[in-house]
Amino acid sequence: MIQIAIDGPSGAGKSTMAKRLAKELGFLYVDTGALYRAIGLYMLRAGIDMTDSAQVLPRLEEVHLELRYLEGAQHVFLNGEDVSNEIRREAVSMAASSVSAHQGVRDFLTETQREIARENNVLMDGRDIGTVILPDAQIKIFLTASAEERARRRTDELAQRGQKVDYEEVLADIRQRDYNDSHRAAAPLRQAEDAILVDTTEDDFETAFCKLRDLIRGRIG
Ligand code: C5P
Repeated sequence: MIQIAIDGPSGAGKSTMAKRLAKELGFLYVDTGALYRAIGLYMLRAGIDMTDSAQVLPRLEEVHLELRYLEGAQHVFLNGEDVSNEIRREAVSMAASSVSAHQGVRDFLTETQREIARENNVLMDGRDIGTVILPDAQIKIFLTASAEERARRRTDELAQRGQKVDYEEVLADIRQRDYNDSHRAAAPLRQAEDAILVDTTEDDFETAFCKLRDLIRGRIG
């Protein structure tokens, strides 16, 4: 099986990019953030303090997650409910960032992610795919862009979906999540030593896409 890991901070365009690359390569696209988001949503609904592992970890027993592919798109099911849309809310982004800091939450999701990669050619996106989940991945990419550029893209994307948001607030959220993700003790966001750094601050989507596609094709033919 071929494994491609794409890691990087929030809003770097990983999922849009990875989805399209996977389609072109005929690989399964796995958005691992959706798993953390589903756990975040569960804990948000439970109304507990998500920074407290003593409150979060026992509740994992009540969580059953499943990834299903419907017409080629990944859907995440939380205890049988399709929560794929609800997990995109901003409140759930923050919840995911909080719960993902607990080692017990990460351990809970490790096997699910590895199992998918054992059975399929995958292009998996996340924060610790190249460093922890799939350390032997044939290709590792660390995709990033400046925080300002990522906030600008996110603001535009939300505006296109009809959600009016303030750029400064989006930027503050991105900075907060960057800080949380890279300063946590458990699997912090960092570039694997053998990962290729791709910075798209100056590139439009098409240019960045072609860069990555050529890079991957050069490696796996
Ligand atoms: O990628 P996405 O923004 O959907 O991820 C939501 C949150 O889940 C991230 O901010 C990060 O804290 C966490 N996450 C993680 N490890 C992954 C994927 C996501 O810690 N592999």
